[in-house]
Amino acid sequence: MKKFLSILLAACLLVSVSVMLASCGHKCEFAEEWSKDENSHWHECTGEDCTEIADKADHTWDEGKITTKPTQEADGVKTFTCTACEQTKTEAVAFTGMTEEEWNAAFDAAVFENFVYTEKATVKGNGMTIDTESTYKFTKDNAWIKMVMYGQTVEQFAPSKADAIELRDETVASIKDITAFAKYKYDAATKTYKATAEIEIEALGEDTTDVTLTFANGKLAKIEYNLSYTENGTELTVTSVVTLADYGTVVLDPK
Ligand SMILES: [Zn+2]
Ligand SMILES: [Zn+2]
Repeated sequence: MKKFLSILLAACLLVSVSVMLASCGHKCEFAEEWSKDENSHWHECTGEDCTEIADKADHTWDEGKITTKPTQEADGVKTFTCTACEQTKTEAVAFTGMTEEEWNAAFDAAVFENFVYTEKATVKGNGMTIDTESTYKFTKDNAWIKMVMYGQTVEQFAPSKADAIELRDETVASIKDITAFAKYKYDAATKTYKATAEIEIEALGEDTTDVTLTFANGKLAKIEYNLSYTENGTELTVTSVVTLADYGTVVLDPK
C-alpha cells in the first residue's frame, strides 16, 4: 500500500512537471498585431495561457495633426499617432488668432452691404467734454442716419440711393483703413486684437497704437481707439467705440 502511494505521488509529480514544461517550454510565436496601452506597445505570444511578450517599447509619436480647429470660442484638438501601433493621444490647442484669409473674409465687400454702424465718441479738452453718437443703418441701396450731438438728435434717410451708397462706401473705407491684418496681434486673455503699429485715424489726421478690434462669429464687431493730440495749443483726448452689428439683417423702408 505504501509503495502504491509513493508511485502515485511520483506519477502526480511527473504529470505536473510535464504540464509546466508544456506551457513554458514551447517555442513562443508572437502575434503580428501590436498590443498596447497608454504608454507602450508590444507583441503577445499566440500560445494559449502563455504570457510572454516581445518588442515592448514606448510609443513613438508622430508630429501630430490638428483634428479640431481651435476657434476664438473654444480650444482645438491636436491628435498624435504612434508610428508603430497607431495608438493615439490628444492635446488641446489654443486659438492664436485668425489667418489672413479668415481676416480678409470678414472684410469682404459683400459683408458690408447690410449692417449697422454705431460710433460713440467722447472728446475732452480745455475742461470740456463733448459726447457724440452716430448710427448708420445700411442696406444694399439705402441708408438711415441718426446723429446725437450737443443733446440734439437728427434722424433721416439718405436723400438718394447714390448718397446712400456713397456714405456706405466712405464708412467701409474708414473701417478698412484701420484694420490691416499685418498691424494687429491676437490677445488671448481678452479675445481681442491689439494694434502693434501706428494706425492712422483719418478723420482726425492723427496716429495711435491704442486700437483694439473685437470679432464675433468671424465678423468685425467692435473698433475701440484712444488718442491724444494737440490742436491750437489745446490737448485733446478722443475715446471712440465703433460697434458693427446686424450683418445681413437690416431692413429699411424703401424710399
Ligand atoms: Zn509563448
Ligand atoms: Zn505604439
